Amino acid sequence: MGRRKSKRKPPPKRKNIMPLDTQFNCPFCNHERSCEVDLDKPRNVGRVSCMICLEDFQCTINYLSEAVDVYNEWIDACESAN
Ligand SMILES: [Zn+2]
Repeated sequence: MGRRKSKRKPPPKRKNIMPLDTQFNCPFCNHERSCEVDLDKPRNVGRVSCMICLEDFQCTINYLSEAVDVYNEWIDACESAN
């Protein structure tokens, strides 16, 4: 009786691929996930606006930009304005 080699490989760990987050907390009214980012890649424009207090922000993006980058730009802009 041959022993079967049981070479059990641990299952490859799947990376948790998070769905791209496009909703962020608003720095103005502090609502959670009230800011939605819109990436207009053909025009290289990123927009973020809060659906609660209607604050909004626009910045230039590139093909690598993601929603969170636009949001971070907004936060930076807010901080430098203060
Ligand atoms: Zn807001």
